[in-house]
Formats: sequence, structure tokens, C-alpha cells
Amino acid sequence: MTPLNTVLAALEAHGCNPQESGGQWAALCPAHEDSMPSLSLTAADDGRVLVKCHGGCSFEEFARALDLPASAFFAPKPNKGLGRIVAAYSYTDEAGALLFEVVRFEPKTFRQRRPDGKGGWVWSIKGVRQVLYHDGRTGPPR
Ligand SMILES: [Zn+2]
Repeated sequence: MTPLNTVLAALEAHGCNPQESGGQWAALCPAHEDSMPSLSLTAADDGRVLVKCHGGCSFEEFARALDLPASAFFAPKPNKGLGRIVAAYSYTDEAGALLFEVVRFEPKTFRQRRPDGKGGWVWSIKGVRQVLYHDGRTGPPR
């Protein structure tokens, strides 16, 4: 899914009838009473979706009307230089709730990340309670 696909799917779901013409997309604006397609969308070279409502709606109003987080309009940053993830070690609290993970990459390096609560990850565990690894099956990361 590219950001453009995500936004177009959300526009479809909201009955905004996105139509392509000449590399651009036009759609009804979900953020104001729109009877003609006031919205133009283009995908930038870096994958970002650029949105303009000719009725004057702001990006925030538009994203809110579609129930999309601002991040949905941006391509995820490539994982430069870290290689691929080969293992993730979950650190949980006493109740089994995930606090953070230690992720192992190949070529070998480790990074720590915590859930952002929206299905993604924050690559920092600042402020997260540190606990000992306690999954006897695999042992701590080495
Ligand atoms: Zn609008």
C-alpha cells in the first residue's frame, strides 16, 4: 500500500469518487459540502501525497474528515543502513503487556523500540520502564 492507495481507498470509502486525470487525482472534498470535485491529489516523488482543496480546507480538516492520521500521507522512511530484522525480543511487564522490544538486525546490530499504540513502533524507549528479559525459551539477546 502506498500512501496514495491509502488515501484513495479512504476517499472511496467516504463516497468522494476519486478520478484520475493526467497523473493527478480529483475527488469530492470530504471536509466541506462539495458538489464538484474540489480536491486535487498528487503523489510526490518521495511517495508523499499532496492534497489541495480548492474550497480552502486545511490538510488537518481533510485528514480528520477521512479518519486518517497525518502519517498515512507519508511513505514510511526506509530503514537505511540497518539491514533486515531477523529477530525481535519482547519485554513485557508482570501482566504480560508489551513494554518494548529489542530488535536484532542482519548484519548484526540491535535497536530498541516500543509500540506507539497505533499499530506501529517508536524507535526509542525513552521513559519506558526497564525490565529483565524473562522468556526462558529463547534467552536474552546475544
Ligand atoms: Zn474542502
